[in-house]
Order: sequence, then C-alpha cells, then structure tokens
Amino acid sequence: MIVVFKPGAPENEKAKIKNMLIKANFQINEIVGQNLTIYGVIGDTSSYDPRTISVNAWVDKVMRVQEPYKLANRLFHPENSIINVKDVQIGGKRLVIMAGPCSVETQTQINTVAKAVKESGAAILRGGAFKPRTSPYSFQGLKEKGLEMLVKAGRKNKLPVVTEIMSADKVEEFAACVDLIQVGARNMQNYELLKALGKTKVPVLLKRGLSATIEEWLMSAEYIMSSGNKNVVLCERGIRTFETYTRNTLDLSAVSAIKKLSHLPIIVDPSHAAGMWWMVEPLAKAAIAAGADGLMIEVHNDPANAWCDGAQSLKPERFATLLEQLRALAPLVGREL
Ligand code: PEP
Ligand code: MN
Repeated sequence: MIVVFKPGAPENEKAKIKNMLIKANFQINEIVGQNLTIYGVIGDTSSYDPRTISVNAWVDKVMRVQEPYKLANRLFHPENSIINVKDVQIGGKRLVIMAGPCSVETQTQINTVAKAVKESGAAILRGGAFKPRTSPYSFQGLKEKGLEMLVKAGRKNKLPVVTEIMSADKVEEFAACVDLIQVGARNMQNYELLKALGKTKVPVLLKRGLSATIEEWLMSAEYIMSSGNKNVVLCERGIRTFETYTRNTLDLSAVSAIKKLSHLPIIVDPSHAAGMWWMVEPLAKAAIAAGADGLMIEVHNDPANAWCDGAQSLKPERFATLLEQLRALAPLVGREL
C-alpha cells in the first residue's frame, strides 16, 4: 500500500499515520521529496481498510498494490485449482458441461432431460428446485420435492447434480444430497449464506452478481474460502449493462481476468447471459475459446411449455449438436471434451 500526503502536510499529522500503521504491524518506507512525502507500507495489507488512513485531511491518496482477496489470489497459489465434484474434475484439461432444465418440473421431465444430456456428454446435471424469481407471483420451484426428483434423476443417470441454494438455513439439507451447491447471481453477496457454505466441504458454484465487479465476486469467493471451504468454482453468467437486447451482457473478458487474478476454475453460463436459445451456441463456443473450464447450459425437452426460462433453453438435439462442435473446438485451445 502506498500513502501519498498533500504538500505541506505537518510532521505531527504524518507521525499520527505512521504510528497507526506501525501499531497495525506494518513497516514504513518513507520517501521525502521536495514537496511530497510518500509512505511505502510493507506487510500484508489485504485485510487493512485504506479508508482508516484516507480519512485524514492531509492524506492525498492511498493506493493498494495488493488485492484484498488472498485465498482466491493466484499470487499465493500459482497453479490452477482443480475442484472435484464426485468423480468429475473442474479446472483440468477436460471441459465440464453442466446441463439441464432451469427448473425441475416433474420426475419424468428431469429423467428425460438427464438421460439426453448424459448421452450427449454432459458431466453434471442441473435443475432448479428453489427458484429466485423476479416476481413473487411466478413459479417458485418445487422446493424439497424438486430436490428429491433431481437427485433421483442424477443417480439414475450417474450424473452429479448442481442446484441453487437461497438461504443459510438450507445448507445442511443441501450438503447431504447435492454434489455442487449453486449460489445464484442474486445471492452472490448474501454473506451469511457464503459463510455457512464455508463451513461445509461441498463444492460451491459461485455465480457472478448481476452488477458485481470482478473484485467483489472474488471477495465473495474469499468469504467461502476463509470460512473453511476451498472448493469454489466461479460462473460468469452475464452482467447488467445499458444493452437491453440481450437478457444480460456476457462478459467474456472476465474469463481472462479471473484466469490472471485467481487459481479458481471458471465456467460460463451462456443461457442466462443471452436469454435467447439461438444465441447460446455461439456464446458457448466463444466461452470455450476464451479459456473457460466448462459451461452451464439450460436444456429442456419442451422449451415452449417450460415452467421457467423456456426461451433460452436448448432442445436436447440442439444441445447434442453443440457438444459435437465443442468437441472439435476443444483441442484448438488445449482442452478435451
Ligand atoms: C439459474 O441458474 O437458474 C439462475 C437463476 O441463474 P442466475 O443466478 O445466474 O440468474
Ligand atoms: Mn434459468
């Protein structure tokens, strides 16, 4: 961290700041110029709030040179992390495709989709049981019943399952039967939920918040990791921008940024980014080309009559074709499928 004082800052004010920093166990490297004094603060400043210092009227600016996240930071963990979801490895050479309907509707529906996506090469079955809907009047998910149906379909088709959790009081129940627990975009900053998930060892799929910066997203991963659970997979699912044509704007630069800043695997959800089924295929290919470790894709056997997100869901046949194309693309970026 670097502290720059305003010209003419009195010695006693500078001493106040110096004492505060020394008390917090930092060393100070002082640079005194003709007009300005600069402090180079040496030590782990990741958990130090720079506003403690910038509040002083004689401090011009405080600049961080170290990111505030530590456990998620590639600096302290240079090699890629591989997260195991049952026998599926996320973050290795093999791309991981998670697929299934937005919501579990009936046992037959989830079984049908599970069988189809397994045959096409998906490694993990998705399906929402607790749904975070914008309107309280929309279908809210089958809840416990849906969870049960999803787990059954997963077991039957030998697919680990991923599904969304919305509150901390459900962590124990989810940990008992869900292989990868999804934190949705709307709950990325539900810190009590993140801390509760940190107390388990079950892998967590952490989606990026609708308007979250990359740093805020990694700080949410840090919440889970610092509470004791290092098994975090990130998921870019589009962010809010001025553009209204698409449901969200897929931020593919986030894939590169995360790869540089963090060792955690990152997958991309082109379905919630686009909001339209015909855009899923090109965005999925672009995500793999950009270096994503996998994808989450909504697949429905009858999109026109889906209870949720039918417009962005692929039919199983289209999903199969997409995976064939991705299989051809993967080696070009050093991956396999
Ligand atoms: C979902 O995956 O069904 C979902 C609601 O996604 P998001 O949190 O990204 O909107
Ligand atoms: Mn959905």
